[in-house]
This record gives sequence, structure tokens and C-alpha cells, in this order.
Amino acid sequence: MQLHFCGTRGSTPAPGPDFVRYGGHTSCVAVAHDGRAPSLLLDAGTGARQVWRLLDGRAFDGVVLLSHLHWDHTHGLPFFRAGDHPAARVDLYLPAQGGDAEALLARGMSPPSFPIRPSQLRGRWRFHNLDEGTHALGGFEVVAREIPHKGGRTFGYRVSDSSGSIAYLSDHHPMSLGPGPDGLGDRHAAARTLAHGVDLLIHEAQYTIEEYPQRADFGHTTADYAVALARECGAAALALFHHDPARTDDEVDAVLARARSLAGGDTEVTAAAEGTTVLVGGRGGNRTRS
Ligand SMILES: [Zn+2]
Ligand SMILES: [Zn+2]
Repeated sequence: MQLHFCGTRGSTPAPGPDFVRYGGHTSCVAVAHDGRAPSLLLDAGTGARQVWRLLDGRAFDGVVLLSHLHWDHTHGLPFFRAGDHPAARVDLYLPAQGGDAEALLARGMSPPSFPIRPSQLRGRWRFHNLDEGTHALGGFEVVAREIPHKGGRTFGYRVSDSSGSIAYLSDHHPMSLGPGPDGLGDRHAAARTLAHGVDLLIHEAQYTIEEYPQRADFGHTTADYAVALARECGAAALALFHHDPARTDDEVDAVLARARSLAGGDTEVTAAAEGTTVLVGGRGGNRTRS
């Protein structure tokens, strides 16, 4: 399995010279079977613009899987050039929360907020509600479980094929279920099920442990929680994701250094960087290249 980090930023894009190494585009991870073009997008933040390059200008044929409908996970949709294309074939799934999926998405993408609505994207687009459970999507096995976050139903996903497995928990507020064994947040069953034994856990790391007391009810968590979850679930590797929009490259480096010291060698820790590709699973573990 190959992952392409197209956008790793949380909340809102972060352009500028202080955000070059980890990137400023918001959440979007393109997933491909080994040696193939990406057929699954995890979220469609502004990073979805980058998929065009991965496809060498060809139209996208596959699945867009949204974790939830916040702007930083959907604002790339109308600028997803490989998907807004006459030859595109896209099935978009979002967590079922009552009502028609396209109409729900259109509440944030239609006049007067935006010139067109989702159904007006070019190519063949279909919009689906997704329930919790195990699904076959884009040639992958996808396990969907609801995870706590603020404002709208949010799913975490576990994605696997014959070569590897990942878990994707972008935007996660485990503290809303209780402090857990160490005050970092509850290690609840859904998170543990998704992350158990994966080759790579992609998990948000929005706040530092020092910031958290002032921001504990913003719907996010800390890198410390991500490390604790990865260790307890036996994840081989952890990619810190959904970097706070104010976090400079040097500050992400510091978050990463702390996370590595907490992991103590049990879990390989990286900070997800826009423009990098990770080869997941197989012999020799995960490998990253720019
Ligand atoms: Zn977000
Ligand atoms: Zn969110």
C-alpha cells in the first residue's frame, strides 16, 4: 500500500515560509495499491488539489472517504482538478447523519457560499451515506467507526489490502469520553479497534501538552495521546497529522522530538509532511520518500 500525504494541516491552510517542510494544505491522504494510481482519498481538504500531479493529469477514478464535513476536510472538493473532470468517476462517502448525502454536503458548498453545489462537479459523481462497519471501497477493506469530535458525526477509518494496513483518526477528542488512565483522554473501544496492530496509525496531534488545558474543549487532542494510543494498540508506526495552523516547521520538529522520546522505541514516529509518499507494510516495514 502506498500513501501520499497531499495535505497534513488542521483547521485552516497555513501558507508562508514557516510552514514549508510540513506543508500548508489541509487534510487529504491519497491511498494506492502498490504500484497503482491512488484509488482512495481520505478527506478532501485543500490538499486534494495535489492529486492531479500524482495522476500525471489523468482523471480520478475511485472513492473519496470523508471523516466528517468540517471545512478543512471538504474545501478541496471544488479544486480537486482530477475529480472535477469530464472523465472522472468518483464515489464520495460521508458519515451517515440523517438526510441525503449530497444535500448535506451542499449546506457548505452551494450559493451563496460557493458558486456550485457538489452535484455540479464534472464527471460522474455519486454521493453516499456510510454507516459504521466493514466495507469494500476502492479495492480496500475499510472499517468505519464513530469517534468523538466536536460538531457533526465523525468517523475514524482502518484501511487495509493484502500488503498492509493503516488507521486514520484525523480530528479526535477522546477527552470528551473521560481522562483515561493518564489524563490524556480515554482510549475507547472504537479507537483501539481501528488502531490495533496496524502498520501505520495516522493520528491528529493538534495541541501540545502545555496548550491543552486551555483548549481541551476544542474537539482535538495532543501528540502525547497519539503516542499512548499507538503504543497500547501495537501500531508499528505513528504519523502525527493535522498540525495546528499556527505550528511552524521548527515547532512541529519539537512536537516530533517529544513524541519520539515518549514512544521509547516501541513505535516509529514521524510527523506527516505534505508531498511525501509512504510505502506501508510488507517486508522491512514502512519507508518514506519525498
Ligand atoms: Zn480538521
Ligand atoms: Zn473537525
